Amino acid sequence: MKVIAADIYDVDLHRWKPPIVLRLITDQGIYGLGEFPLAYGTGRQAAIAMLKEMVASFVLGADPMEIEAMWHRLYRRTFWGQGGGPVVYGGISIIDEALWDIKGKALGRPIYDLLGGKVRDTLHVYANGWYSGEWAPEDNWAPDGPEEYADIAAKVVALGYDGLKFNPFFPRRGERRPGHERVLEPWRADLGYARVAAVREAVGPDVDIMVECHGWFGTASAIEMGRRLADLSPYFYEEPVDAMNVAVMRKVSESVPLKIAAGERLYTRYGFREYIEQQVIDILQPDVGMAGGITEVRKIAAHAETYDLYIQPHNCHGPIATAAAAQVDACTTNFLVQELVPFRDAIVYELVNEPLEPQVVDSQMPVPTGPGLGVTLNENLIARCPRMHLAMGDS
Ligand code: MG
Repeated sequence: MKVIAADIYDVDLHRWKPPIVLRLITDQGIYGLGEFPLAYGTGRQAAIAMLKEMVASFVLGADPMEIEAMWHRLYRRTFWGQGGGPVVYGGISIIDEALWDIKGKALGRPIYDLLGGKVRDTLHVYANGWYSGEWAPEDNWAPDGPEEYADIAAKVVALGYDGLKFNPFFPRRGERRPGHERVLEPWRADLGYARVAAVREAVGPDVDIMVECHGWFGTASAIEMGRRLADLSPYFYEEPVDAMNVAVMRKVSESVPLKIAAGERLYTRYGFREYIEQQVIDILQPDVGMAGGITEVRKIAAHAETYDLYIQPHNCHGPIATAAAAQVDACTTNFLVQELVPFRDAIVYELVNEPLEPQVVDSQMPVPTGPGLGVTLNENLIARCPRMHLAMGDS
């Protein structure tokens, strides 16, 4: 079997983080999908350009069954693969996802079956972005005061979710974003605490609250806030400081009585190695679409397991990314819980015919059973998106 063509789609159909989708097409009529998360940050055009160049230079004409060889070719022969950042590793990840999808479809099995088989029958998930999408106030993407957060949290828990994540440190509506985000000013610390306290009060002691910080804070602020939040029993404290410095994260980790989660901006087993070996993070959050794909996240998880650490794949993307994460979750023994953004506009999930997000019941997502990723493109919807077509023989 050979990859003979590819389509790169700019799925610019909605306001919520529109994805870049890769479709690799083989000479046997089987296609494989990948979704590029870089598209929602600053880097959309870079994502498209990197996929175009990688596919044209390395993937067209290749045997899609030889995934390990392709991974190493992209890592070693792109020059920037060794030590590269999100553009390179995102490109490798998306090609990896699409190749696994082809392999699964060719063999008629879900990807997790090819990686050792499933070790659980359903996947525990928590809701991120639960305060946005259909719940969002009309003039803003996020609620404002603690009461608004509490009201929405109660509704989401009533739907069956037993875990909610949010960054409670955004300024109030109409207030300017602080200029020096590394310093957590007293007013913002008080507001963040009050929002988490209101949500805890609304949902009770048995619902997990994950506190996200997006790497905003300096060490002293992160430690002070983490100590203060402890009495509200957050399930974990995510990226309290920038994840670029292992020593700084270790200082925070050793100074607060909370589990630390991080990893959405770390790439490959080389990027996670120090964090794992020094046991600085309790819950690792590699993004399957950014950290090196299904192939690499399996290796990161295996390394983490030797240090008794948990994996919680980062995912705030569309239904193809969710499907790729679900394949890893299903067969990974140290999987803890899956991040999900289930309350976006319906069109986000309509990208595929079998989205997993609407199938969640009581915070459990089904393990997909179809071949490959278990999802197929909604051809009517994707036909409305700008497409770049690459084929063997094109110059
Ligand atoms: Mg995060």
